[in-house]
Amino acid sequence: MHDHDFAGLRGILAADGVNPCHAGALRGALYREIDAALDSRPFLPPLRRWVDRSVGESKAFFLDQPELVEEIRSEDGLTRKFLLRLRDGETIETVLMGYAERHTVCVSTQAGCAMGCVFCATGQGGFRRHLRPGEIVAQVLHARRVLHEIAPDRRLRNLVLMGMGEPLHNYEAVMEALSLISDPGGIGIGPSRIAISTVGVVPGIRRLAEEKRSYQLAVSLHGSTQEERAALVPVAKRWPLEELIAACRDYGTITGKRIFFEWTLIAGKNDSPATAARLAALLEGIDAHINLIPLNPTSGFSGAGSDGDGAERFQRILRDAGFPCTFRQRRGIDVAAGCGMLRGEGSGLAV
Ligand code: SF4
Repeated sequence: MHDHDFAGLRGILAADGVNPCHAGALRGALYREIDAALDSRPFLPPLRRWVDRSVGESKAFFLDQPELVEEIRSEDGLTRKFLLRLRDGETIETVLMGYAERHTVCVSTQAGCAMGCVFCATGQGGFRRHLRPGEIVAQVLHARRVLHEIAPDRRLRNLVLMGMGEPLHNYEAVMEALSLISDPGGIGIGPSRIAISTVGVVPGIRRLAEEKRSYQLAVSLHGSTQEERAALVPVAKRWPLEELIAACRDYGTITGKRIFFEWTLIAGKNDSPATAARLAALLEGIDAHINLIPLNPTSGFSGAGSDGDGAERFQRILRDAGFPCTFRQRRGIDVAAGCGMLRGEGSGLAV
């Protein structure tokens, strides 16, 4: 795996004296084919010679596939969590989720996370490093290979950046990875089927708007006042709620796109009717969809999820205020693959 887009591939070939017109065939072999075994591809002779020579020289280009340490399946068989080891020994997690009409892969963008959300296992473990673009792309390729094995008639069409890490804290690498992933001549997951989830990194949201990126944006809010939010999401001290909402408002105006607001419901902390009413007032005028997430258990946080009645009341208030508001389908809780449960440690079971 390498970290170059199509232009980069052309440049690499040209630098090695190969006509860059072969870049399309190389890109297809690397990204479009399920089996990226380059030795059996029917390349034209100049590209074949270059590939053979490059593999012989062990160009890092082809060798950056993470090692699968462990694969855990949920009891219902719909979710698979992969623990992957990167070249320097760091481990990350990737989750493949099956729904009636689609499969979605959830990838990590960092090893660990610096944002420290109190209810999140990744945040509880601290930050280790940013992932490189190739390490992000490799997770999608891995999930696609597995999907091809279990459901050959299905294509991987949806991607969410909601695994370990804060994507907008690793902006450049994430954008480079996404341009490879959404490239129609490569993996080909359309930008509108890619969701970037942020906990509220305001400069990143503004940059997405300025650069007119056509990915979906999901903002984890979790609090309707600065105080309520800062108690759950420490990054709110750096980018206060008011600044975040202003950035979201501008994002909506500039891009014309709907924003998904994620809300983890925690009993007694952010699930009261008064909070729901404040949230509705806060988002007034924004094209918003609110996703309610029942709190998933982690060992480092003692809070409990809202009960069914409280959660439904919360939803009703938002709907009555005119917002689409849905519950996120829960996936993979028994294998610690749900939202906020990824730790990068696996279960100790062998693959
Ligand atoms: S919820 Fe997301 S941003 Fe917050 S600590 Fe976990 S991985 Fe990081």
